[in-house]
Amino acid sequence: MLVDSHVHLDMNQFKDDLDDVVARARAAGVGEMLQVCYDARSVDATIALTRRYGDVYGALGIHPHDAKIWDEAIEKRIKEGLLLKRIVAVGETGLDYYRDLSPRERQREVFRRQIGIAPSAAWATKTSRRPGSGSMPSSRCSRGPGSIGPIFCWSVSRHE
Ligand SMILES: [Zn+2]
Repeated sequence: MLVDSHVHLDMNQFKDDLDDVVARARAAGVGEMLQVCYDARSVDATIALTRRYGDVYGALGIHPHDAKIWDEAIEKRIKEGLLLKRIVAVGETGLDYYRDLSPRERQREVFRRQIGIAPSAAWATKTSRRPGSGSMPSSRCSRGPGSIGPIFCWSVSRHE
């Protein structure tokens, strides 16, 4: 069985044929999918998708692009969501210094917050790192869940 560990079924391009998209994934052998939340709106959408499809699990988090919007209310919503049976991970989270859409220090702070609320060793954290981001704050990770993964890293050549 294939598991797609990173889908965004709540994106606009799927709104008119979402059932068909999921059916095609199943037909291609995908047995389970991890719907990964990326912004404040996506928290509720992710929870709804886990209720709509029995083979869709959820990860709740805020992409580093939107770290600037992180506040206590969002953290509370994510913490509450993490108590749901089919919400199995924290994500998206991480650092993205490629586009710098949120201040870097804010990204690091929100990444640490999200790692800190990942409540179980069995739960994964999805991260992103772009060129020039320096090292991941691994010392902070060690205070979070017992295992972290998968971690996505991107790099580019000097010419990109
Ligand atoms: Zn993603």
